[in-house]
Amino acid sequence: MTSSMDMKNLTKKILFGMVLGLMAGLIMNALGNKGWMSVVFTDGLFHMGGKVFLASLKVLVVPLVIVSLICGTAALDDIKKLGRIGGKTVGLYLATTGLAITFALIASIIIAPGEGFSLTTDVAFQGKDAPPLIEVLINIFPTNPFKSMVEGKMLQIIVFAVLFGLSMTMAGEAGKRILSLFKDLNEVIMKMVMMMMLFAPLGVFCLVAKVFATQGLSAILPLAKYFFTVLAVLVFHAVVVYTSLFKLFTGLSARQFFKKLRNPLTVSFSTASSNATLPVTLETIEEEMGVDNSIASFTIPLGATINMDGTAIMQGVATGFIAQAYGIDLGMSDYLMVILTATLASVGTAGVPGVGLIMLAMVLKQVNLPVEGIGLILGVDRLLDMVRTSVNVTGDMMVTAVVAKSEGYMNLETFED
Ligand code: ASP
Repeated sequence: MTSSMDMKNLTKKILFGMVLGLMAGLIMNALGNKGWMSVVFTDGLFHMGGKVFLASLKVLVVPLVIVSLICGTAALDDIKKLGRIGGKTVGLYLATTGLAITFALIASIIIAPGEGFSLTTDVAFQGKDAPPLIEVLINIFPTNPFKSMVEGKMLQIIVFAVLFGLSMTMAGEAGKRILSLFKDLNEVIMKMVMMMMLFAPLGVFCLVAKVFATQGLSAILPLAKYFFTVLAVLVFHAVVVYTSLFKLFTGLSARQFFKKLRNPLTVSFSTASSNATLPVTLETIEEEMGVDNSIASFTIPLGATINMDGTAIMQGVATGFIAQAYGIDLGMSDYLMVILTATLASVGTAGVPGVGLIMLAMVLKQVNLPVEGIGLILGVDRLLDMVRTSVNVTGDMMVTAVVAKSEGYMNLETFED
């Protein structure tokens, strides 16, 4: 296991990588980001470093979830407990997402970021239809576990791993033998996570530098009102809502909780993907916050897939913005529809970059708003994606800590350390 001193140093290096990447990217953007500069750096070294780092994270996701969740379920050894934990987790995930989108809609009504917005932007965005709820539920159940793994279908992987873990505990001696193999595998994969983390300062640097070299901050100007409304609600949700819920349900220091979030948050910010951040989230919640593997191995992968408060916030503000920009009035029933669709859409879609826009298209269709309106906000979406993914990951960890504490599966000494 790495010592806490090593971890602190690594955290500092990762933060440093992020700040340096931000500065390098902005400077290159100011210099025009063209010619040899873009060939050698932005599309060369930064692109390559970022892609390799992303690959090293993604390659761990499926094996880590499978092995860790099989061990976790086997350790719970009580199907009733599993049901209770599942109920609490899903309930909290849905409730916080519902809250998030409600705040976002209220902010979009009060601030009215789309009022007077001129529709001159070249709009082009193809929407998708929302899959029927029945379809979403059926799709949770795998038909071939290997296919689910190959396609990275997280909910199907979770169902298979939980069933496998439970069966293992029922299989007596044979189950015990296999469990010890999975426990060893878990140790080995966690070591791989640590190895990959050593590369994180450089990976984070490359990812952030590339985004800011290509995007710059000038794209924000025409959409400043929309951008800052989303940002304000994201910050409010992370700081006020999560702090209050964490304190209320655990009685622990929210400051300590936020302090330990640095590694997952720098990685989620630079990758804009809850899924790719999963190995770091899991490592931090278990090793740094003291949450037992039997809870975290279930709630964290589930959260990366179904809990997207930050994304819901973007959708709430964007819906208000598009309605105002097109001069369309939304009624109370429309707002309720938005809350319901956005919450359910988050269940069926994975946490990968930009998926929030696909979900937004579903929401807009439900309330008959023009889907091509998404073209208006595309310019700032990558930057917002980085921030909202960090809120998504914070939400997963907050709920995980709350559930673990309430079930007595949190080592408080590790948390306070
Ligand atoms: N990138 C987000 C995530 O992975 C989803 C989104 O908002 O697009 O959590």
